[in-house]
Amino acid sequence: MIETRSVEVCPTCGVHWHRERQPARCLDPAHEHTIVEVHVHRSTVRLPDGTAVAAVSFDPLDPYSRTRDPRFGLYLDPAWHPPWPHGLFSWPDFGVPADPGELERALGRLLARARQGDEVELGCLGGHGRTGTALARLAVLCGQPPSTAVQWAREHYCVRAVETHEQEAFVVTFSGQ
Ligand SMILES: [Zn+2]
Ligand SMILES: [Zn+2]
Repeated sequence: MIETRSVEVCPTCGVHWHRERQPARCLDPAHEHTIVEVHVHRSTVRLPDGTAVAAVSFDPLDPYSRTRDPRFGLYLDPAWHPPWPHGLFSWPDFGVPADPGELERALGRLLARARQGDEVELGCLGGHGRTGTALARLAVLCGQPPSTAVQWAREHYCVRAVETHEQEAFVVTFSGQ
């Protein structure tokens, strides 16, 4: 079961709000609004070798409440400023990283911590495109063939994991070296 939040968007005003928990930010009846179901992810994912990683979305209403703080988080969006030790990796939303080698090193360090038994987190904003792509590449580092790593992420994390064709190609062409 994945918790969802219903977000209402007014493209005319360029505003959005959480329908259940925030007042409407546009009340103009002439504006066409769209409703988006957003996943709230705090999902523990088991990589193919059994290593556990928590994959998270950024919940702007309550980003940092946890039963227990992670030992380390790797975040792919500058929205994150958690009170626990973390790294930020610059990766444009809906895109792929400019420096794949730097991403591999960051993911390798995250994996090494997780294998030592540290609780680690991986997150972006929505928790699907960048987080899903990074999870797929972590799976490849754990022995998953690149050609099936996107499918793996969708089965073991979320059906919405990896959002664009460019991100899919980025996973498949990863050599793991
Ligand atoms: Zn409006
Ligand atoms: Zn999801």
